[in-house]
Amino acid sequence: MSVADRICDEIVASVLIVGAGPAGLAAAAAAAPNAKNVLILDENSEAGGQIWRRGVDPSNTQGWALYSQLVAQPHVQWLSGSRIIAVIANNRLLVETPDGPRIIQWQKMILCTGARELILPFPGWTLPGVTGAGGLQALIKSGANLKGRRVVIAGTGPLLLSVAASVKQAQGQVVAVVEYRSAAALRQFFYALLSGHQQKLWQAVGLLWAMKPWRYRLSSVVSAAQGISEVTSVIIQKGDKSEEIACDLLACGFGLRTNLELATLLRCQLRDGAIVVDEQQRTSQQNIWAAGEATGIGGVDKALIEGRIAGLDATGYRATDKEAKLREKAWMFTGTLQKTFNLDVRLRQLCQADTLVCRCEDVPARELEKFADWRTAKLMTRVGMGACQGRICGVACEFLYDWQTPEARQPVFPAKASSLALLADLPPDTSLHG
Ligand SMILES: Cc1cc2nc3c(=O)[nH]c(=O)nc-3n(C[C@H](O)[C@H](O)[C@H](O)COP(=O)(O)OP(=O)(O)OC[C@H]3O[C@@H](n4cnc5c(N)ncnc54)[C@H](O)[C@@H]3O)c2cc1C
Repeated sequence: MSVADRICDEIVASVLIVGAGPAGLAAAAAAAPNAKNVLILDENSEAGGQIWRRGVDPSNTQGWALYSQLVAQPHVQWLSGSRIIAVIANNRLLVETPDGPRIIQWQKMILCTGARELILPFPGWTLPGVTGAGGLQALIKSGANLKGRRVVIAGTGPLLLSVAASVKQAQGQVVAVVEYRSAAALRQFFYALLSGHQQKLWQAVGLLWAMKPWRYRLSSVVSAAQGISEVTSVIIQKGDKSEEIACDLLACGFGLRTNLELATLLRCQLRDGAIVVDEQQRTSQQNIWAAGEATGIGGVDKALIEGRIAGLDATGYRATDKEAKLREKAWMFTGTLQKTFNLDVRLRQLCQADTLVCRCEDVPARELEKFADWRTAKLMTRVGMGACQGRICGVACEFLYDWQTPEARQPVFPAKASSLALLADLPPDTSLHG
């Protein structure tokens, strides 16, 4: 008997939702009334995704409204702490769960797989005490106390303000928020919010107000983190001028990048680093929808409305005109975000020849510059072959060297030997359209 035959209890989902962030919860809530059963799968142990990372509770009205109605329904199942690692034949997926590998058979699938941070390499970025901006926020949401610690927050994008507010809440001291964009660019952004997204404008104003005393530096960048065993100071560059600031932590992020591993395996059409969807959130693959950051970086409102539309459409229902307009508005905000915070190629100069680009395998930029593509560089230097499997350095290399996104291969995440044994026994899905 084969290994696969021994795993007899396949989970069958009429609607499978991958990701229990805002998009996934909204999709599940919209699909649940009309689906035979809904399975919500997430690699985190708690529902809530990036924004509600501590889990959803009544203090969070938006999330709680969705979550509480879902947990009350017996035909809605949860598979937490579980990751899809491979796509196999006949609409089946191989999933690594806390209880070992399982197979899920799905009829409809909604991809709500979210995004991760873009961290650009610069001298000293691998020192202890240097994290992603969202990474530090995730630590705070998990209970980290920053009492008395001096924190520099750097990079670009609205997340920096939100992180500054979190640091203050965790009793840290924000010594500088270093934003790459100029005052003129941010003024334009605020005008755009004023004309169509007042609620977001007030949110931004509230975060700015909470940041007092203001230590906001514009048109500036952290060009180096310094220290011996951990970060003790950073160099802030503004044009030709540089300044050293003492700190205990540096949180640095240059925006978000969509998680595309699963969509790539499923051969969904991608454009500009996101899954292509129509107005009903349908992807290019039959019976597969996508919503939230997976279709383009636009934040929680876009995730909620897209999730709802996907959940409705997957169960044969149409969104109302009002909902379609909300989606349109969310997409306008996405466009504004992209226009304001698009990466500037000049940021490539932050990475010096001896800067480590792949911190898992210790590969410096000097060794990578000579290659024309990711694949050759990977074979010759082991870039992307460490624990993160290129999740951090892959996107950095895309930006630094204009390399194409590396093709996802099965298993799409590092997997246990028991899962690999099962995978070796299972036929790959050849039915997907390339
Ligand atoms: C580090 C970070 C911090 C952020 N902080 C904020 C914030 O404070 N405020 C704010 O407005 N926005 C924040 N954002 C932006 C955030 O992406 C959106 O606001 C919102 O959470 C998007 O919802 P989503 O459902 O599309 O994705 P997410 O909330 O990212 O949810 C996606 C979920 O999918 C799961 N997943 C992905 N792939 C798989 C897989 N293969 N198998 C199983 N599960 C999988 C993930 O574990 C995750 O829970 C942050 C983003 C990041 C990356």
